[in-house]
Amino acid sequence: MDQAPNQSTDVIVIGGGTTGFGAAIAAARQDLDVRLFEAGSKIGGVMAFCPGMPWGAAYPCDTIIGGIMEELAERLYSMTPPMAEKRPCTLENFGPEIQYDHETATFTMFEMLEEAGVHVHLNTTALQPMMTGNQIQSVEYFDRHGPHTMKSKIIIDCSGDGDISARAGVPFELGDGQGNMMGVTLSFTMVNADWARVFSEDDPYFRRYAEKGIAEGRLHPNLAQLYLMKGFSRDTVFCNSVVIRSVDGTDPEALGKATQEGRRRCHQLAAFLRSDVPGFEDARMINLGPTVGVRETRKLEGMYRLTGADLARCTKFPDGIVACDNPIDDVMRDSDEMTHDAIVNGEGFYTIPFRSLVPKKIENLMFAGRIISADPTAFASVRGMPQCIAMGQATGTAAALAIAQDKTVQQVDTIELVNELKIQGLRGLGS
Ligand SMILES: Cc1cc2nc3c(=O)[nH]c(=O)nc-3n(C[C@H](O)[C@H](O)[C@H](O)COP(=O)(O)OP(=O)(O)OC[C@H]3O[C@@H](n4cnc5c(N)ncnc54)[C@H](O)[C@@H]3O)c2cc1C
Repeated sequence: MDQAPNQSTDVIVIGGGTTGFGAAIAAARQDLDVRLFEAGSKIGGVMAFCPGMPWGAAYPCDTIIGGIMEELAERLYSMTPPMAEKRPCTLENFGPEIQYDHETATFTMFEMLEEAGVHVHLNTTALQPMMTGNQIQSVEYFDRHGPHTMKSKIIIDCSGDGDISARAGVPFELGDGQGNMMGVTLSFTMVNADWARVFSEDDPYFRRYAEKGIAEGRLHPNLAQLYLMKGFSRDTVFCNSVVIRSVDGTDPEALGKATQEGRRRCHQLAAFLRSDVPGFEDARMINLGPTVGVRETRKLEGMYRLTGADLARCTKFPDGIVACDNPIDDVMRDSDEMTHDAIVNGEGFYTIPFRSLVPKKIENLMFAGRIISADPTAFASVRGMPQCIAMGQATGTAAALAIAQDKTVQQVDTIELVNELKIQGLRGLGS
């Protein structure tokens, strides 16, 4: 194990998905030395595995959540030609979302990490936390040069699956607590589709076509609703339809099998669209995901567990760090159904409390993104990418407060944190 003396830093962010992107930038902008470890070869996480997926819930009650998400969107909006656009979502109960050019967006995200001074380590996997009492002293990680150890004052787990937090002893539940996890999805895009004809269909889920395809044995039976959305560029259609159920996203072999099964179903669906759905006759598939996108695995136990009842009451927590009005977007946890029920009738939003990102015991660890402490209902709403970026931003900012004041993460003054996040441009915060 490499124990070089220069292997120490202020903050290790584990995972370069949307959450890790927000966490690393926020911490580095507070003049901290930040190491971002990303196991894969690209920034984005699920956003990169499902290229073209819109940033949903960026505009709770039609106001942008602000902060780093807003900065990223504004950079893309202001390009010539614009590389992102705010659009209404065609699916029930979802508010406006941001469609963007995937390659420009990931390039811009990396640029923002560079500008903040984040050290980005790609193809670098965090393996094990080295504990002293309730503190993580260092993290063992692996890259092409072999295994290493790095000391860090604060660790922010943005890995989506929470391996390091779990190994540090943070209790967790898998999926809904009964072991049912949301389905995983392989996505693709069709180019050269004729939008005018494709979207003249008045059912947003294309159910009559799906029914025919299933009855004729040409589509998988759980494709009863086809999630087809206008892509960012004209005449492109993003297909987020192929869901594989009952896959444990922490099991690498299960993920391999699901990815190959997903490819089969995606090719089948693309052929079906071309032959049966008007407007797709001359279309072809691009951007088939490199792997399935995993929605849900571990949910870690935090100081506070956000609940479905909190959402229904539109609770604005005093330590709320991001606004959200996403519906309860449950994807085939324990049935073939996809549901997205509104959190309340009419307009309303809730906030996600910082305490849901803080473990009860480990004093220098935070976690954010899709490993948040939430019950199954709340989780189905909080997991949108804009909220993930903001959760990351909150933990990166909290890291600076904890280090400057020599406090544990549990002792961070949440009033001060929320005030700082407001200064950073996050909206709808505070009670
Ligand atoms: C199919 C699908 C459709 C969705 N649709 C939408 C949508 O339309 N709009 C929306 O806003 N949201 C959507 N979501 C939700 C959203 O994409 C995710 O909740 C969000 O991207 C999660 O971000 P994250 O950064 O927390 O985790 P992830 O994106 O999973 O990122 C975690 C990163 O950590 C890395 N990692 C893991 N372990 C380690 C380790 N030990 N060391 C180093 N790196 C590690 C991984 O490689 C990965 O890059 C969808 C999700 C899925 C799966």
